[in-house]
Amino acid sequence: MQRTFSKPFTQQEPISEALIERVSDIMRTGRLHRYNTVDGEIAEAAALERDYAAWQGSKYCLACTSGGYALGVALKAAGLRAGDKVLANAYTLAPVPGAIHNAGGVPVFVEIGEEWRIDVADLEAKAQSSDARFLMLSHMRGHIGEMEAIVAICERYDITMVEDCAHTMGARWNGKRSGNFGRVAAFSTQTYKHINSGEGGLLTTDDPVIAARAIIMSGSYMLYASHGAAPEQSVFDAVKLTTPNYSGRMDNLRAALIRAQLAGIDDSVRRWNERYRALEKQVAASPHIDTVERPQHEEFVGSSFQFRPRISVKDMPAFLTGCSQRGVDVKWFGAAEPKAFTSRYDSWQYLAPQAPLEKTLKVLETTCDIRVPLTFDEDDCAIVGAIIADEVNKHL
Ligand SMILES: *Cc1c(COP(=O)(O)O)cnc(C)c1O
Repeated sequence: MQRTFSKPFTQQEPISEALIERVSDIMRTGRLHRYNTVDGEIAEAAALERDYAAWQGSKYCLACTSGGYALGVALKAAGLRAGDKVLANAYTLAPVPGAIHNAGGVPVFVEIGEEWRIDVADLEAKAQSSDARFLMLSHMRGHIGEMEAIVAICERYDITMVEDCAHTMGARWNGKRSGNFGRVAAFSTQTYKHINSGEGGLLTTDDPVIAARAIIMSGSYMLYASHGAAPEQSVFDAVKLTTPNYSGRMDNLRAALIRAQLAGIDDSVRRWNERYRALEKQVAASPHIDTVERPQHEEFVGSSFQFRPRISVKDMPAFLTGCSQRGVDVKWFGAAEPKAFTSRYDSWQYLAPQAPLEKTLKVLETTCDIRVPLTFDEDDCAIVGAIIADEVNKHL
């Protein structure tokens, strides 16, 4: 009898009863909008900004509607003008090129290496040849690039780095939190990320002008003083009449959900990594599957797992079907047509045609990706890993 697995890969943990009570209390007040407060009250959205900035170690924070929104506003607030080129690692999710496009930027994709991280040599070459003023660095699936080298390239070519930390909330590189390397960073609290508020985004920065512009863009009207981690009034005064309102505020219900989960995130990270290691142990034991050995100085968050079976590309669909029939939901980045959350740079055809990225295509040809939900335990992860290794063996 073949072993199968039956838990869903998309099931999140429930919201605690205490938090449901907290959110219900806010609903009972009727004051769901962040600027709808009574005298002396600090709105939940402002309290979230204060707490998140303190936890992240950034001076300023803006809570907004989504991670993708935060990315677009980050670029605009950092001074992107229509038609400006934006370097970006080619392996990322669709909201990233979408945010660049929406902000008026033109992506210039950079190759990735076999460990799914941005290729530093290609970044340098394109920084030199493209005259891009921005880098949108997506820490895709939690794989953090060689940050010292990347920061040095940005300094050398006067490039403003925006970090997409949708998969690295809580991660560190050489002891420094992901999100604190660039000028500005964006985080997501969409259901499948490290904090679950359904939808939601956070932007952090130490730059007062970027912070003021981002806050105004989010739709703050002239109510800056009710923000939880904002620069001084004088900074707003200098930009308030020249910065548009792109309405995208966080509401108090989501803010309450995020704040409460932030208090438990270190524990969630530990639990994700136990599950990741249990899965990795099974998969990495197979001589027919490539995985990455995580760098020692990378404190990652194992909320997803990537691997490349050493089988022929034409056997990939049969391998995926085999896994699926045994209850293991594997996503594949090599498919010709985008499917669910996976798409590749060559499927974003609203962008100007890109020079082919041979290295990236080669790596993605067999790149597989699975979620590691906290509703699995370590034994579940071991079973999932064993099924994957077993299915790969059928295609050698
Ligand atoms: C989810 C995600 C985003 C955008 O977040 P949303 O809150 O869904 O808009 C950006 N980048 C990556 C890599 C993501 O996975």
